[in-house]
Amino acid sequence: MNLSTLTTEKSIHPALFTDQVTPAVRGILEKSLLGEELSVEEACVLFATQGEDAQAVLDTADKVREKRVGDTGTFVITRNINFTNVCYMGCRFCNFAKEKGDKEAEFLSVEQVADRAEEAWKRGATEVCIQGGLHPDIDANYYRELIIAVKKRVPEIHIHAFSPFEIWYGCKKAKLEPEVFLSELKALGLGSMPGTAAEILDTEVRKQLTKNKLTTEEWVRIIKAAHSVGVPTTSTIMYGHVDQPIHWANHLKLLRDIQKETGGFTEFVPLGFIHYETRLFNDNPDKVRPGPTRDEHFKMHAIARLMLQGYIDNIQASWVKMGPDVATQMLRSGANDLGGTLMNESISRAAGATHGQEVFPEDMVANIHAAGFNAIQRNTKYDTVKDYGKTAFQSNRIDIVGVA
Ligand code: SF4
Repeated sequence: MNLSTLTTEKSIHPALFTDQVTPAVRGILEKSLLGEELSVEEACVLFATQGEDAQAVLDTADKVREKRVGDTGTFVITRNINFTNVCYMGCRFCNFAKEKGDKEAEFLSVEQVADRAEEAWKRGATEVCIQGGLHPDIDANYYRELIIAVKKRVPEIHIHAFSPFEIWYGCKKAKLEPEVFLSELKALGLGSMPGTAAEILDTEVRKQLTKNKLTTEEWVRIIKAAHSVGVPTTSTIMYGHVDQPIHWANHLKLLRDIQKETGGFTEFVPLGFIHYETRLFNDNPDKVRPGPTRDEHFKMHAIARLMLQGYIDNIQASWVKMGPDVATQMLRSGANDLGGTLMNESISRAAGATHGQEVFPEDMVANIHAAGFNAIQRNTKYDTVKDYGKTAFQSNRIDIVGVA
């Protein structure tokens, strides 16, 4: 980004801050408008803002979004395929996992996954997002065969698959280093990986969320290994439980540091904690927050935009977690992407979210237009698939989301 453009732009928007904005907050936001990096301490100041100060944070994020990626909102036509809900990890924030033998336990064969991928392709999907639990019967070959089966059936579809935790599990089963295992998967057709299983990249917080799950160091190790062999990943945070703003600021800085080193993140996706039906909340309702507040959603997207600018410039608002209306509002508070249409999504619904089945492409376009942006269907790598322009687009659909 050209700093002089930003300076000029700032000078023609003198009304961005009102007189009520406190000098300390104003100083930090002016740094952001100049494209400068924010420190963890500065991010914490912004997370603590209220009233006019908080509004100025959102307005600044909106301005920085405009400078970085323009007035464009994007989405991807994708299908989520959760190939098994059997998982032995027992993460306390998750109510998706079942035990082997439960009547609701599911484990799709690789051919069933390929069937779903083919169905998605026929409905216009450019990507399938494939993730599952850590099923005790899975061996390293299952991950390999799954990619082979999907690619054989739908050679052109982009396979976005396997969380860093699943890769850790596959490596363990295959007795291979992550670079070797990931290179094999890439050669078979793995296009990219979701940067999920990050939750909060802080040891103390992670201990409260789960017992034996991937450590922060292991998450970083696998993400860097993926980037080193040319497998890009997304990056995520799960916030609004036992975490605090200092953890959010540190998490954002860690992602920024990784990106400086590897350049392998395609986007950042804030994922609000859905507390319903989770042991984490139900066992400790006095100590665990029931997900982020609406203000925290806004601040997370806005401050992520400011902390990550110039490094990760795609900030996704998750309609699955917040609902399409709130996600659309995030487009004017720092976000520029509404994520995927999904077709099926069972993880959030299992935790009690009321959103999470499907948003149709025409609704994505209508929502992006409602934010005043040019709407673009993108692929996984943010290349344009279809440009819908900026013209008001009236969706005929009224069933925007499937409600569980
Ligand atoms: S969050 Fe993932 S690893 Fe943890 S129990 Fe749920 S499916 Fe298993």
